[in-house]
Amino acid sequence: IFAAVEMAPRDPILGITEAFNADSRTHKVNLGVGVYYDDNGKLPLLAAVKAAEKARLDAMPARGYQPIEGLAAYNQAVQNLVFGKDSPLLANGQVITIEALGGTGALKIGADYLKRLVPGAKVYISDPSWENHRALFESAGFEVGTYAYYDAATRGVNFAAMKASLNAMAPNAVVVLHACCHNPTGADLTDAQWQEVVQIIKAKNLIAFIDMAYQGFAEGIDADAVALKLFAASGLQYFVSSSFSKSFSLYGERVGALSIVTASKEESARVLSQVKRVVRTNYSNPPTHGGAIVAAVLSSPELRQQWEDELAGMRERIRAMRIALVEKLKAHGHDFAFVAQQRGMFSYTGLTAQQVERLKDEFGIYAVSTGRICLAALNTRNIDHVADAIAQVLKA
Ligand code: PMP
Repeated sequence: IFAAVEMAPRDPILGITEAFNADSRTHKVNLGVGVYYDDNGKLPLLAAVKAAEKARLDAMPARGYQPIEGLAAYNQAVQNLVFGKDSPLLANGQVITIEALGGTGALKIGADYLKRLVPGAKVYISDPSWENHRALFESAGFEVGTYAYYDAATRGVNFAAMKASLNAMAPNAVVVLHACCHNPTGADLTDAQWQEVVQIIKAKNLIAFIDMAYQGFAEGIDADAVALKLFAASGLQYFVSSSFSKSFSLYGERVGALSIVTASKEESARVLSQVKRVVRTNYSNPPTHGGAIVAAVLSSPELRQQWEDELAGMRERIRAMRIALVEKLKAHGHDFAFVAQQRGMFSYTGLTAQQVERLKDEFGIYAVSTGRICLAALNTRNIDHVADAIAQVLKA
């Protein structure tokens, strides 16, 4: 039965890590990843997480099944974080939230449910977008197109073109939006631009699917949720996927959530019943550990404060690396000021595929061929090497 099976293409980003791991040069740097490393180049285990895990281990809980929608305390904590605990949407019962297997799992459950809800709709992702967005929605059966987003000339957003794309969409088209820290470009919308996007989505009867994988990595927990606040005030119904992979450094525990905003509490009950069917036929119910840890941290005032401080530490370290890279490249005569304007883990540097290749071959620095680099992989010990190498490959 497998005789005619073809080899699937390798995941482009995981392929970079494989090549990096096989490289024996000691000064090698992997800027291709989408992971936060600390200044020692290590994946952090947050102290708040450690404390919650210790308490859980000491309690030795039995390992029963979770409800299909996951742990209630976790879902509640997600809603408070994503929508703000005083949101009228929550008070009105207009939001349903299910625990999902990371942000990816939330997107997949949302996509599968949307396919049942609006089977003929077309899905649009930003140009460019996180590469898995297209694959996820296509595997749910949708035709996936793009809307204009990145402007290579300014290394920011081409907002006029983005609006034109949105305005040209048919009613019920699904628009996947990055709430903050756009992956891969680092270019985000301003608050005023978000306001306009919400108005167009409403006027054109589009369906927003807001992907928030990096809450807290741009400005802060509340500031990064500005798009959510504007959508909340719009009276629209929409989807939100969120993730604690990065903000809790819990990548492998697969802790995310799908939230759906409906028109009423009664509608919420019906929608939840349908989303639960999608989950039941996928993986039945989510794993316990990650959600329990996040719920424990977010519901304890001390641990929550500790987590917010640790999250701020990650955010500020990335910001410091952005500024340092700009300054070091300036000393080499290159204007990379845009790197300090972009937000989150990534930057579209404008480096060509050829320059990225030279970074790898001559300097042991790995990046994505599109010129995307992960600022969270820079640290005080490798940044000089990286800045010098970029300056070298920029020489004609
Ligand atoms: N959306 C975006 C934009 C992302 O960058 C990522 C993670 N790289 C995800 C979703 C998925 O997150 P998770 O690892 O929690 O599945």
